[in-house]
Amino acid sequence: MYRAADLSSQFSFSFLEDIVPLRRGPIRTSRLMWRIVRVLTYSLLLICPACHHGHMFRSRFRMNVRCPVCGIVFERSAGEFSGGMAINTIATSSVAVAGAALAFFTDVPVWTLIAVLTVISTAFAIWFYRHARALWAGILFLTGSMREE
Ligand SMILES: [Zn+2]
Repeated sequence: MYRAADLSSQFSFSFLEDIVPLRRGPIRTSRLMWRIVRVLTYSLLLICPACHHGHMFRSRFRMNVRCPVCGIVFERSAGEFSGGMAINTIATSSVAVAGAALAFFTDVPVWTLIAVLTVISTAFAIWFYRHARALWAGILFLTGSMREE
């Protein structure tokens, strides 16, 4: 039987030290949140979350393996590609569900709405592809996974 003290000793929050280097005392929440927002914003802008200068993509669908400026590896293995795909799927599904909600508030014929949502969802998924992969790379950077050798 586990007690609360046993469970708390199993979990470590040491990954937070990668997000905000600890000096002394507890992590200041505002500093941590600011860093998270800044890293994710740079990622959404397709700019390296580490140096804030290198471009993450060399073409529309090709991500740089390493940052051309600081050399950090954006995706260490091929499997990390799936994290970006999950983000893209969730975002695209959210757009489709929000569009489908229009059926309750408008008189648009259902088949017209389905056709329009199919086109919009497909276009959104293609457009958001780079941003989703870059956002996942930003999340990996925040958790310290990018810096592991
Ligand atoms: Zn960089």
